[in-house]
Amino acid sequence: MRLESITQRTLGLKDHRVEAVESLDGGLAVKVEVRRRRRLPCSACGRRQRVRDRLGARRWRHVPLWGMAVTIVYRPRRVGCDRCGVKVEKIPWANGKSPLAYPLVVVLATWTRLLAWQVVGRLFGVSWSTVRAAVRRAVEFGLSNRDEQAVLYIGVDEISRRRGHVYHTQVYDLSQRRLLWSGEGREAVTLRRFFDEWGPEKTAAIKAFCCDMWNPYADVIAEKAPGALLIFDKFHLVRHLLNAVNDVRKAEMRELEGTEEAQLLKGTRYIWLKNPWNLTDRQRQRLGFLERMNLKINRAYLLKEAFLCLWAYRTRRQAQRYLEKWLWWATHSRLKPIRDFARMLRKRRDGVLAYFRIPLDGGATEAMNNNAKAISHRARGYRTAKTFSLALLHCLGKLPLPQTVHKFA
Ligand SMILES: [Zn+2]
Repeated sequence: MRLESITQRTLGLKDHRVEAVESLDGGLAVKVEVRRRRRLPCSACGRRQRVRDRLGARRWRHVPLWGMAVTIVYRPRRVGCDRCGVKVEKIPWANGKSPLAYPLVVVLATWTRLLAWQVVGRLFGVSWSTVRAAVRRAVEFGLSNRDEQAVLYIGVDEISRRRGHVYHTQVYDLSQRRLLWSGEGREAVTLRRFFDEWGPEKTAAIKAFCCDMWNPYADVIAEKAPGALLIFDKFHLVRHLLNAVNDVRKAEMRELEGTEEAQLLKGTRYIWLKNPWNLTDRQRQRLGFLERMNLKINRAYLLKEAFLCLWAYRTRRQAQRYLEKWLWWATHSRLKPIRDFARMLRKRRDGVLAYFRIPLDGGATEAMNNNAKAISHRARGYRTAKTFSLALLHCLGKLPLPQTVHKFA
């Protein structure tokens, strides 16, 4: 089989053919020509038109072969379109002014889902910015070709990049476990940008959102998607309560400073925060001993354990009755951090109890956030927010890739 026919097959040409494969700067040059006197599609409207003239030679990068760079060389034709005027033909192996052939875009995009961009660049002998261009091209294609019909449940959360100096807001499709949108910032205005891009029509189809009660997302969701159910993530709620318990312990340590009790409280942080069944024997013994002292931290501990029982209820009515009791107890506990938590909860209890209508929680969101962090570490951190969002959408968006005639990867 000749090299010409092989490259011809990988490009899947119809109106064009490979004329010759020659050596070029240690690599291969694939010379492409038009077949006979065909009409060629206009790049603006796609209709076939008569060829008018041809431009100077242009080059596109194809997938390397046996470690050699492969360059497609072709003089694009211009067509006289009766609708658009004089236009360049639609190049079948590349998009617009991109110097990368589709097969190379697909190959680079496939590997960058698994490896760091630097590594992929080295494997295929292209620069980092070429890899970035390929990923951007793939993501653009994926975004305009993905299925957005069945997006019914959404999880919103933030992740940090560069050791917590920069934050990104992540919008996940919970049914299909994929990333829908990622943008720099974690303010109300950040999430507004998502809604503006997603549009009111698709937003109206969303049945429920799940997010953390303490960040500004909830207000934006209520404003932009008033028809959807807003559910506060139970894992975030528990995390905030654990922080409150820990604050009670720290305050009490300060109050008791210098006394015998303070000595006994030292190093007990995890005893109060862990689930009782996860305690070691020694920790359980210490807890049993501490429980007999009349400590504030012990009251906070009991309130925390009681709060966790809420999620065992089956119906909203039962859960509501229990929550009201718990809130009364917590607001009368004379423990300031717990009282603050309970007051916040009371104000937004609808979002807490919404869980008993649609049991959505942040579990899937958390798992995808962890993957996002792994992607960030893989490249030792992406320098710009745009590139980071691109990498995240590419790896977590489950985006379709352009189809190529030949499967390279
Ligand atoms: Zn046209």
